[in-house]
Amino acid sequence: MRIRIDEIPESGRTLSFHWDQEMLGRFASADDPFSLKLLRPVNVVLFLDKRPDHIRITGTIKGALEVACHRCLKPFALPMDERVDIYLVTEEKIARDDEIELEPDELLYEFFDGEVIEVDRLVAEQIFLALPVKVLCSEDCKGICPRCGANLNEEACRCKTDSSPSPFAKLRLVKKPRPEE
Ligand SMILES: [Zn+2]
Ligand SMILES: [Zn+2]
Repeated sequence: MRIRIDEIPESGRTLSFHWDQEMLGRFASADDPFSLKLLRPVNVVLFLDKRPDHIRITGTIKGALEVACHRCLKPFALPMDERVDIYLVTEEKIARDDEIELEPDELLYEFFDGEVIEVDRLVAEQIFLALPVKVLCSEDCKGICPRCGANLNEEACRCKTDSSPSPFAKLRLVKKPRPEE
């Protein structure tokens, strides 16, 4: 979705729409480390407010994402309830005038060409920004064993049995070359 600035009345304009996996796919990079998926379309409500020297976009993005845990790599659902508060400015505006009056807390600047708001790109960026740096399925996720690949949340690591006798220990002995050879 693209909104032209001249399509926004002085009183502002509300957008309310669903945003789905197909849209996300257009913006996610091929090597997305999160393996991000939308479990269902997210609900987006945005209010576009035309100010003299910028556009302010406020609203919410709500839904559920599926992401891969950074430790055990298992996909899990991550609820999403993000508040959006963006100031759209043109690059010339910032270059010319660094005294734009903006409220100081939690500001998010975005550049645009001064004519068209790329709404879909903004939504994608907000979703990516909402992800924590390290996504974990749970605080005490045990991760996977680097040697045998077992998901330690779900099964005991097979490596642990290596030092104790097991049917495989015998096999290894058999395989060892005998010293006299
Ligand atoms: Zn995990
Ligand atoms: Zn292991």
